Amino acid sequence: MNSIIYPTTNFKHTATLIIERGDGAYVYDSNGKQYLEALAGLWCTSLGYNNHELIETASEQMSKLSFSHMFGGKTHQVGIDLAEKLSAMVPVENAKIFFGNSGSDANDTHIKMLRYYFNAIGKPQKYKIIARERSYHGVTVASASLTGLKPNHTHFNLPFDALGVLRTDAPHYYRNALPNESEAQFIDRIVNNLEQLILLEGADTIAAFIVEPITGASGVIVPPEGYYQKVQAVLQKYDILLWADEVITAFGRTGNDFGCKTVGIEKPAMMTLAKQLSSAYMPISASVIRGDMYDAMVEQSAQVGVFGHGYTYSGHPVSCAVALKTLEIYQRENIFDHAAKIGAYMQKRLHEFIHHPLVGEVRGKGMIGAIELVANKKTGQAFPDGTVGNFAMQACQNNGMICRAVAGSSLAFCPPLIVNKSQIDEMIEKTAKSLDQTLDFVVREGLL
Ligand code: PLP
Repeated sequence: MNSIIYPTTNFKHTATLIIERGDGAYVYDSNGKQYLEALAGLWCTSLGYNNHELIETASEQMSKLSFSHMFGGKTHQVGIDLAEKLSAMVPVENAKIFFGNSGSDANDTHIKMLRYYFNAIGKPQKYKIIARERSYHGVTVASASLTGLKPNHTHFNLPFDALGVLRTDAPHYYRNALPNESEAQFIDRIVNNLEQLILLEGADTIAAFIVEPITGASGVIVPPEGYYQKVQAVLQKYDILLWADEVITAFGRTGNDFGCKTVGIEKPAMMTLAKQLSSAYMPISASVIRGDMYDAMVEQSAQVGVFGHGYTYSGHPVSCAVALKTLEIYQRENIFDHAAKIGAYMQKRLHEFIHHPLVGEVRGKGMIGAIELVANKKTGQAFPDGTVGNFAMQACQNNGMICRAVAGSSLAFCPPLIVNKSQIDEMIEKTAKSLDQTLDFVVREGLL
């Protein structure tokens, strides 16, 4: 027993695995056992472990300027360079960037920026945000309120109403389609639900719709083709901003530079970035907004007053330097092209699991995927709780691979973007062995 309160546990949890070091796509525990990191930490260590260029960049920046803040317009060159580079990369028009420390706080920033913006343009009543069931947007009070996963709500009495959070369908055809409903009918039904929600609440009260292009923590939900085209048409009709939470999907993860491109989202008004922005070598996030929103805030700020928001570590120079170097490496080493190629191979190999007796659905794009374990393959009946998913995750760990059980009984895969084909093969072999062990367990316990 030690003195740590572990995140996302029932408090009774005690550490069973001490990770001591990492190298490339592998981490090693305190007994020297090697694990393939098939979830890139928490969907973040895109360039793997022990990248000397990133380590040296951090060290040099610490020697040069270990801290400087961005309050009141003070800045530093790496912060400026990072903002310019990011602004040129993202699909947000004339993007302006606010730096933070985590995906959660970046989403909080966005909520406040939306409120400030609509106040500035004389529409203070336009503050509500539509978020989806089974979405994940973080764990601060505000971002957890956007999050649609129920376990992140329980016991916290979150201020959904005060924040104006509205909820609409998760675009998961396998789980949420009605009997005999085609994909096209499913899309029409849930997009119609979205439109009805807007009409019920009043479009003039709704600021934005937040989406993960492809979800992560809720089990890697890939919406059916055509979903986002219809969603965008509705949002345009009612003048509601599209806010892409790309905390997981940005920077080559889904087979393109941004997840928006993979799923057909054109020009989001806002984008949230974190994790792979620095390959998780330093904490940093970015709240990105369209240039015209920024211009309107600048114009009106004399009347509205100061935008009183910022974190001590907004634009931390070491984080900015590491993020800038990460983006340089992505471009220099053609990491996104590599990830697209290896990602296509990973999807092909993952889809082989559809023949396994425990697997109900395999889903994913590029270098992110999941396999959903089910009690009845024919009907898709889910296991009643997370026992089987957790068993499978533990089996993977015993077999020398780290992945994650999400949304009950789905196993999620999101390896560093730098992995090669033989490491994908290793991931598949270890998963196959773990699934067979899980099947033995399920049969033994009479859960099938
Ligand atoms: N948004 C998405 C889509 C995420 O997946 C996450 C974390 O996994 C967050 C926001 C929150 O990021 P953080 O854990 O850095 O606060």
